[in-house]
Amino acid sequence: MIDDAIRVLAGDCTVIAEADDRSEYRGRVTTIVKPDNTVLVHDIDGYQPVAWLTRADSVSSDRAGDFTLVAKKDTQTLRIAAHEQDGFAHYPASAAGTPVGTCQNEDCAGELVRSKGVHCVDCGTRYGIPTDATIKDDQSYCDCGLPRMRVERGLAFDVCLDRNCESLDEAVREAFDREWDCPESNCDGDLRILRRGGLIAGCEHYPECDTGFAMPAGVVDGECDCGLPTFETHGGTRCLDATCDRAVARHVEAASDD
Ligand SMILES: [Zn+2]
Ligand SMILES: [Zn+2]
Ligand SMILES: [Zn+2]
Ligand SMILES: [Zn+2]
Repeated sequence: MIDDAIRVLAGDCTVIAEADDRSEYRGRVTTIVKPDNTVLVHDIDGYQPVAWLTRADSVSSDRAGDFTLVAKKDTQTLRIAAHEQDGFAHYPASAAGTPVGTCQNEDCAGELVRSKGVHCVDCGTRYGIPTDATIKDDQSYCDCGLPRMRVERGLAFDVCLDRNCESLDEAVREAFDREWDCPESNCDGDLRILRRGGLIAGCEHYPECDTGFAMPAGVVDGECDCGLPTFETHGGTRCLDATCDRAVARHVEAASDD
């Protein structure tokens, strides 16, 4: 289930905002408290809150007597006292994102949306995915029913959102494990595909040889003068070795020819 909740307080309230100066308002307003402690007090007009505190350090509520919310952050305080309450409620809340498919959990047909990762709006199930992964409208679907994402790691891989179903690491390993030689002059090792935080191509003779490169987000499009592969990325062509300038130099030369 979704644990996060947005709290809403509506009624005739006095709102006091104190920082370097002090402002006091009175009106029939709606206060929204987000799970990250952002507090927004809205009146009848426009999109902008009358008063707000972004990601307060604390928000406390006191139901004795007049309903009071107190939000504090550094030297700022926001107090909301309800003289007459029209409503107070908690509503389940999730991040909003682009719809990408349908949840495949048993008894759940919720919408899957992508914000930072992919999550189900109904049951809260999450799939962590690489930030550069793309999920297109015309994506293919895995046998399990989940959409596939496209991730470029040397080649464009289409794999299930659920890493336990289809593993991106395994696909990259199958394609590139031992594909390239370690560039150290006195090392005869192959580069293995490993996960060290992110995916890396690292020398098989680790720890004697600590050569290793993060797999770039892009597809292999050639060979660098240093012998390693070059990758076509959003930022242009680059060597597997991010510190190698030979691929970049050649790229600039090629560009200046036309
Ligand atoms: Zn679900
Ligand atoms: Zn699957
Ligand atoms: Zn090596
Ligand atoms: Zn290079």
